[in-house]
Amino acid sequence: MNRRTLALVLTGFCLAPLAAAQQDFSAVEIMLHDVAGNVRYLEGSGGNIGLLAGDDGVLLIDDQYAPLTDKIVAAIRKVSDQPIRFVINTHMHPDHTGGNENLGRMGAMIVGHDNVRAQMAKAGYAETPPFVTFSEDVTFHVNGETVHVFKVPEAHTNGDSFIWFENANVIHTGDVFRTTGYPYIDTGNGGSFLGTIRAWDLLIDLSASGAKIIPGHGVATDVEEVRSARAMLLDVRDKVRQAIAAGMTLEQAQGAGLTAAHDPRYKSDSRLATPEALVAAAYKDLAE
Ligand SMILES: [Zn+2]
Repeated sequence: MNRRTLALVLTGFCLAPLAAAQQDFSAVEIMLHDVAGNVRYLEGSGGNIGLLAGDDGVLLIDDQYAPLTDKIVAAIRKVSDQPIRFVINTHMHPDHTGGNENLGRMGAMIVGHDNVRAQMAKAGYAETPPFVTFSEDVTFHVNGETVHVFKVPEAHTNGDSFIWFENANVIHTGDVFRTTGYPYIDTGNGGSFLGTIRAWDLLIDLSASGAKIIPGHGVATDVEEVRSARAMLLDVRDKVRQAIAAGMTLEQAQGAGLTAAHDPRYKSDSRLATPEALVAAAYKDLAE
């Protein structure tokens, strides 16, 4: 039994991105989207890749899966022939860190929060972790941009960062915020329901002046979408709190239709970001 299998058996939890080895990437197309100024993002399979190009070299945020690196580099070459110098990992998951090894070999510095590296080891991930880590924040001064990278409260995992391009006024949120459905709170890797509310509050403060938001998955958006999602999350929090006060077990709370009002907008075909998983994450924080 290898380390990864052991980790899965121990946690009894199978993360979808681990299926990367069986996934067929041949049909995946990498699409380039402009956001603001020199900031763009690449859509393919896995998390959205932030891209800042310029004379100082290319800075990327996340790198999807290893089999896609050639296609990703080809897409970058449409806007820049400069070397890829920096890759910032928003968090640990394989659909955001799978290209680390390839890009590291090409000379990129891979950067992430201390917990990204530590938790990848703990979870037994085969992906290469960041080899430069920080505890609170780090700032890049490249391509005429000031790029603030900073840890946010435990939300999607225990090692989430936001990346704020100050001049272009664009924020990459990693999977703390996604436009594709309910938030996925990976409690097995230190994620937290109440921490997600705190991280979204921070995102609202930061984007209220009109920043564009690149979500971990989905399409570029702005503060209004975060405000509606926050209202949904507060409603789910209140309903789960009432269920706990009424003496419901987790299973009863999951079967009580607490998210029904929001399912038409937020329920997706994700195996992970389900209403039941959201209620479980809320229950875990609120029952303590
Ligand atoms: Zn993720």
